[in-house]
Amino acid sequence: MLPGAYIFLDLDDTVFQTKSGLPNTDGLSVAAVDEDGDPLSFTTSRQDAFLELLSASATLVPVTGRSVTAFRRVVLEFDFGAVLNYGGLVLNPGGQADPDWLSYARVKALEAKPLLDAAGAFLQRKRASGLSGIEFKIVGDLGLDFYLLARGKGGDSKNLPETAAILQSEFGSDARVYLYDGNVSLLPKYLDKRAAVEYFINAFILTPDISRSDLLLLGAGDSEADRGFMSLCDYQIIPSGCRLSKIL
Ligand SMILES: [Mg+2]
Repeated sequence: MLPGAYIFLDLDDTVFQTKSGLPNTDGLSVAAVDEDGDPLSFTTSRQDAFLELLSASATLVPVTGRSVTAFRRVVLEFDFGAVLNYGGLVLNPGGQADPDWLSYARVKALEAKPLLDAAGAFLQRKRASGLSGIEFKIVGDLGLDFYLLARGKGGDSKNLPETAAILQSEFGSDARVYLYDGNVSLLPKYLDKRAAVEYFINAFILTPDISRSDLLLLGAGDSEADRGFMSLCDYQIIPSGCRLSKIL
């Protein structure tokens, strides 16, 4: 019998999504709210069953691009830490920012700040010269800037592919650019869910008495940003029809 099973779990578009990502809206439960506290993301009854199945037999650790504030808007409950900001922040099993990871991330985030500022200024110029309907912000926590998030105004996503393409061609040597259905994220190269999950396993799961071979690790995710951490796991779980399943 193994001492522990853990599932590292991407959230958005893996275990819940906004209504625009759903073919019909029957039997939905609220999974996350927006800035005003109104329902924004939902689980289907099958996703509820999936989460129940997992939580009955494994410890769930969210691995998400969400910042602390956005993570607090998720109404699902997790109680063994989390990886947030695409790995910029690691919460320990008690829910506190891990100080050792934070020291590392602080150095990296300060190094990457000029890149994020340049990407923001670049998008401003592109908007002034015709790239319409795109708004963006820098996402971070604890005074640190981690990544740039661009969205279409009013949920209009038609200019997101072009936004991703120009960011990739301008900043692709220093950053990874991910195009999702509802946003584009530009991540400095150090920012990596995989590195943070690896740290989490070493810091909070492995002990002198529990080695990697004593553990069953599952990874679940829907996008290219999840592939790295999923590859650390014994099994990889991908929702049917998602972007990653299409690539694979
Ligand atoms: Mg996702």
